Amino acid sequence: MQYSAFSLLKNALTGHRYWKPAWREAQPRDRYDVVIVGGGGHGLATAYYLAKNHGITNVAVVEKGYIGSGNVGRNTTIVRSNYLLPGNVPFYEWSMKLWEGLERDINYNAMVSQRGVLNLCHSDAQRDAFARRGNAMRLHGVDSELLEKEQVRKIAPYLNFDDARFPIQGGLLQPRGGTVRHDAVAWGYARAGDRRGVDIIQNCEVTGFRIDNGKILGVETSRGFIGASKVGMAVAGNASRVAGMAGMRLPIESHVLQAFVSEGIKPLIDTVITFGAGHFYISQSDKGGLVFGGDIDGYNSYAQRGNLPTVEDVCEGGMALMPMIGRVRMLRQWGGIMDMSMDGSPIIDRTPVDGLYLNAGWCYGGFKATPASGWCFAHLIARDEPHAVAAAYRLDRFATGHVIDEKGQGAQPNLH
Ligand SMILES: Cc1cc2nc3c(=O)[nH]c(=O)nc-3n(C[C@H](O)[C@H](O)[C@H](O)COP(=O)(O)OP(=O)(O)OC[C@H]3O[C@@H](n4cnc5c(N)ncnc54)[C@H](O)[C@@H]3O)c2cc1C
Repeated sequence: MQYSAFSLLKNALTGHRYWKPAWREAQPRDRYDVVIVGGGGHGLATAYYLAKNHGITNVAVVEKGYIGSGNVGRNTTIVRSNYLLPGNVPFYEWSMKLWEGLERDINYNAMVSQRGVLNLCHSDAQRDAFARRGNAMRLHGVDSELLEKEQVRKIAPYLNFDDARFPIQGGLLQPRGGTVRHDAVAWGYARAGDRRGVDIIQNCEVTGFRIDNGKILGVETSRGFIGASKVGMAVAGNASRVAGMAGMRLPIESHVLQAFVSEGIKPLIDTVITFGAGHFYISQSDKGGLVFGGDIDGYNSYAQRGNLPTVEDVCEGGMALMPMIGRVRMLRQWGGIMDMSMDGSPIIDRTPVDGLYLNAGWCYGGFKATPASGWCFAHLIARDEPHAVAAAYRLDRFATGHVIDEKGQGAQPNLH
């Protein structure tokens, strides 16, 4: 079923009784050419691009819960490509370009909203760093604007410009950044993959890998063995646990990140804003809720919920940036499991097991990467060679020292 204004009208006039399920409830078959473990944004995008770009349609996405139950349906929806390092900029800019054409490509309204991402700076040193970042972006053809304080005030007059402990000095704006409705991305890719023949198998947990003589034979699941010539892991916060089943120890730690939504209020924030003197970012959803978040909880966990000290820390960041936020009631809060890599950058690579591929290490910035990650992971699986824009995301960089440390924090996964 093609979604269009015509199909909307037709179904509206017939009592909405003839909409078809967005994807089939597929049952596992004995064997596939490719099995993707993890039905998050990255796994679903990979399956879609395997079918669309490489003609490989005998593909299953195996998801232990339901589609959208992981981080793809838990994030704060921010997309941007304001990176500094050469290993990162082309990849995230490719992702931004794919976001720009995504809805037409997958025939799904993912509410891609290029409302701009504004990073605030609060010191001379921070402004210098932003100028450098902005210049690096421009050299790579990415849009960026360095703003003075008065330009920021015009965009966001409700910020505390008068008596803030960390006065706002200006900001770096990426006008093409913005937000995308997170669960719609999962549903849209699932539907688009299904239409090309991909089996989406929910409530099917991978419990082990069958490997013989260093070659993958398939996956053991809670619903039996599924054979496959190639297997891709895209399980985000569970990456260490799942890779462990294949005997691999990853340079990744799992941490909780929380998200918060306020009660709905009238339109106030028409861009994404990040605080530069603490870790706090905020936007407003189309339903009116303020959507915000901050730091990870800072301890290792596989629980999809967070702790109160981080709630307090995030709220303090919000109060410091825009004190009137204290008048708004918080409506909802939840947590997701982050696959924090040692250098803060992801891994899209082969593994020592022949036919087993790894997509992991997205930290808390993997949502914006979803289209490019799927595109590049599909390329790697189909051709057995890395895509040019993801060539730096090698697993062995942690052994060789070629790390991509965007923040310059060193091997401190809780700080990236
Ligand atoms: C609170 C929060 C805010 C965030 N904000 C942003 C943001 O604003 N911008 C941004 O770019 N990124 C953000 N992120 C990060 C982003 O959401 C993740 O990096 C990204 O979604 C991870 O990729 P994914 O969608 O494939 O993960 P997931 O949706 O987690 O997919 C992985 C899937 O694997 C499944 N799985 C795990 N183990 C197994 C198994 N054994 N068998 C089968 N299936 C398995 C899981 O159930 C899950 O569905 C945020 C994350 C959180 C939690």
